[in-house]
Amino acid sequence: MTTAFDPETLAFYQGNAADYAAWSKHRHVRLNGFLAALPQGASILELGCGAGADSAHMLAQGFDVRPTDGSPQMAAQAAQKLGRAVETLLFHQLDAEALYDGVWANACLLHVPRDQLGDVLARIRRALKPGGLFYASYKAGDGEGRDKLSRYYNYPSEAWLRDRYAEAGAWASLAIDANEDRGFDDELVSILHVTARRPTST
Ligand code: SAM
Repeated sequence: MTTAFDPETLAFYQGNAADYAAWSKHRHVRLNGFLAALPQGASILELGCGAGADSAHMLAQGFDVRPTDGSPQMAAQAAQKLGRAVETLLFHQLDAEALYDGVWANACLLHVPRDQLGDVLARIRRALKPGGLFYASYKAGDGEGRDKLSRYYNYPSEAWLRDRYAEAGAWASLAIDANEDRGFDDELVSILHVTARRPTST
């Protein structure tokens, strides 16, 4: 199995889990749009859940959520918030098949090394039920790099991302929109929001 993570980035989240949890804020708008497109009580896998704010919102809305994060310390922060166990799961360890109505991956696949993103996206596509919905967000750019906190980013352009999603398999729909926001490093960046649906027939 190939490994799709950056050790320095994981070490950052391990060492700064409490500070990240204190900073992290839940943004309901996009998440509510995602939830509205799913059946009531749908099964949702959250990848890179961080401190668990989005999972908390989904659970409160009655969804059947599996919160996960690649950093045991971040998973512990989320477990404390959610009052339930949160699994440590690295993206490349995902091997579910047709299990989820939705996969939510806010601001986490942006840390996957460029040459590994296609494989991770294929795993996510496989984990979705036919017709399942997948959301992920990325910091936009034109090549990989690190921020001032030494975290690795794949910094994709829209065209590069579309190629990686295509590499992962066929999608019934793939929509990308952009806005500007500040991350934990307080830099203003352009964010690409990608929503993809697995075809019903594959
Ligand atoms: N989704 C949360 C949010 O919106 O606040 C957390 C986002 S935080 C910027 C990125 C998260 O991805 C961290 O919690 C980190 O531990 C996790 N992460 C980074 N690389 C990962 C990997 N290869 N597998 C699983 N999780 C990973």
